[in-house]
Amino acid sequence: MKLVSDKIIVSGPCSAENREQVLKTAEGLAACGVTAFRAGLWKPRTRPGCFEGVGAEGLEWMAEARRTYGMRIATELNSARNADLLLKAGMDIAWIGARTATNPFDVQDIADALRGCHIDVYIKNPVAPDSALWLGAIERMERAGIKGRIVAIHRGFCAWEKDIFRNNPIWSIPLWLKAQRPDIPVVCDPSHISGQARLVPYVSRMALSLGFDGLFIESHCNPAAALSDAAQQLTPEEVGHMFQDLKLTE
Ligand code: PEP
Ligand code: MN
Repeated sequence: MKLVSDKIIVSGPCSAENREQVLKTAEGLAACGVTAFRAGLWKPRTRPGCFEGVGAEGLEWMAEARRTYGMRIATELNSARNADLLLKAGMDIAWIGARTATNPFDVQDIADALRGCHIDVYIKNPVAPDSALWLGAIERMERAGIKGRIVAIHRGFCAWEKDIFRNNPIWSIPLWLKAQRPDIPVVCDPSHISGQARLVPYVSRMALSLGFDGLFIESHCNPAAALSDAAQQLTPEEVGHMFQDLKLTE
């Protein structure tokens, strides 16, 4: 299968866990037409004591996925001190996580560490529904003269009241961002909005119907065994079916 749309499509596991899992997931996604592969290496867990990621060790597995399947690779950059590691590993995309995006000091440090670099920077909305903070993080990256593409990721907002979604999409906020900055592509992360795999196709369809510029989706070769976000990850085959349904691939 190959992509037949100009939407930005990024998919891969919540976390890189081991070489085999990274390569198996990348292989499955490449077969579904995915051209950019994501995996978290440093995981920002809400509470301590959970799996916190494999760290720099996973960079080599991702670089191997890039070489073997010709995919671009993406990981979360959570701290300026890891910027050089990512650049040296040939990372194509660094994304700023929803927790980091809440802190302008961290965002500025990261922008300074990437100043003038050729890397795409994707910026998740902050966990709190503060639209100006999201736009501010984008502006900090722009002012650092980053030479790659700057893209916003809508992953929903934390809410005290639990409802069907893990994170409340509050669609008006990404639409506000689009209205303010039509030049910045906004992609939807249906996985962190949904929190459960079976909702992901519905949220993806909704995002595309609202004119989002792409999807950023979690996928794992064996979701039930995932060390983080097990409930919301799709298998590469499920991602493939969804892309067919959404007419993104042929
Ligand atoms: C992730 O993409 O796995 C992640 C940790 O996301 P967020 O920063 O949106 O919670
Ligand atoms: Mn995740």
